[in-house]
Amino acid sequence: MDRFDLIIKGGTVVTSADSVRCDIGIKDGVVTALAGALNGGESIDAAGKLVMPGGIDSHCHIDQVSSGGLETADDFASGSRSAAAGGTTTIIPFAAQHKGQSLREVVADYHRRAAGKAIIDYAFHLIISDPTDAVLGQEFPALIKDGYSSAKIYLTYDALKLDDRQVLDVLATARREGAMVMVHAENHDVIQWLTENLLLQGKSAPRYHATAHAAAAEREATHRAITLAEVVGVPVLIVHVSGREAIEQIAWAQRKGLQVYGETCPQYLFLTADDMDREGLEGAKYMCSPPPRDAANQEHVWRGLENGVLQVFSSDHAPYRFSGGDGKTAAGANAPFSKIANGVPGLEIRLPLLFSEGVRTGRLSLQKFVDLTATRAARLYGLYPRKGTIAVGSDADIAIWDPERQVTISQNMLHDNMDYTPYEGRAVTGWPAVTLSRGEVVWNGTEITATPGRGLFLPCDLPEPARPNRSGILET
Ligand SMILES: [Zn+2]
Repeated sequence: MDRFDLIIKGGTVVTSADSVRCDIGIKDGVVTALAGALNGGESIDAAGKLVMPGGIDSHCHIDQVSSGGLETADDFASGSRSAAAGGTTTIIPFAAQHKGQSLREVVADYHRRAAGKAIIDYAFHLIISDPTDAVLGQEFPALIKDGYSSAKIYLTYDALKLDDRQVLDVLATARREGAMVMVHAENHDVIQWLTENLLLQGKSAPRYHATAHAAAAEREATHRAITLAEVVGVPVLIVHVSGREAIEQIAWAQRKGLQVYGETCPQYLFLTADDMDREGLEGAKYMCSPPPRDAANQEHVWRGLENGVLQVFSSDHAPYRFSGGDGKTAAGANAPFSKIANGVPGLEIRLPLLFSEGVRTGRLSLQKFVDLTATRAARLYGLYPRKGTIAVGSDADIAIWDPERQVTISQNMLHDNMDYTPYEGRAVTGWPAVTLSRGEVVWNGTEITATPGRGLFLPCDLPEPARPNRSGILET
């Protein structure tokens, strides 16, 4: 019997710590050896390639019904295919509670949605929109112990938003049980007030979405989330940070010694509010919340990634098609921005965009790239070291990158179930030549080679970065 099921030979193995020229031996889906030259099994030639941990996309909405009642275009089959073709080997979508629902039943429902479909492994974040006594007293603590150790909460959207008192209760439960809380930080009343007044002025085109979702509203809510977490004495993670205003709040908190983490996404590096300023509803293709800002803010987001104020880069893949009943244009050709689904796709192009514009330009080291796209997410959400690195004992979730491959992004080459990409026509250099999930080739550079249903559910441990290093006001 061969010592290995598969050997990846001759590549440069990159982790968040270093780059080493070595072979990788894989047995039973796990990395069992890293050494100069391995023999005894089938091999893949990785000469001239970069061998990196497969990406972890820790923020993506898959087979989820939005607060507005629209169904995302991707299910776990198309979503996981698209992820794999872009070098991602783990996704963490959401099990989203709507008001009145049992959290436990919501989780069972999302397991049914994933079963038999995913081609790569997945975990779930909870979305808590109805923190009743039963949810916070029983369901949430029990689910945390069962491997759902992170939850997203919202400060905006009518169907999802929590008031400050509810946020405090969720944070206190997370502190006690060791979960990570992610916050969508925008001030709901500011957005509503601006929206109503813009519409009264006849300003209803997609570009006014950016006006309504003002950076000041994001800044205030970011500060408030940080403050509430400080009061409770618990770490908090601010998701999809769009620019300078929120970054300054996070940096301020970090300087104070608070455990505040920040995430950003491709749309805040590669799109701007000007993209929404197009004929008819075309601009809706670039609408998400918070919205893309401007070139100066893009620069602040880049710097936030470089200097560590932001630690994790995910897609916030929220795939609403342009056409059709669940699409951006579902409310008609003259729909005001407030009636258009929020969200952009990004599962497949997340890594290639950051590699091309971050690594190839010299802004980010390979180590930083791996940390931002895989390792840090594994740590923040309790999947490390099973996922997010290449080490003996870790799952063989690996993306073998061709750093020279030139690709012009176009919707017809992507594997999601969308009818557009906001990055149509953009040229990138570098793309995964092979993606492996637990040692099995799931993407060979031209096609998906995996069977739906092979992906496994990953119960998450209590994340080390969610452990409080300070007291809340009640403990002092
Ligand atoms: Zn959000």
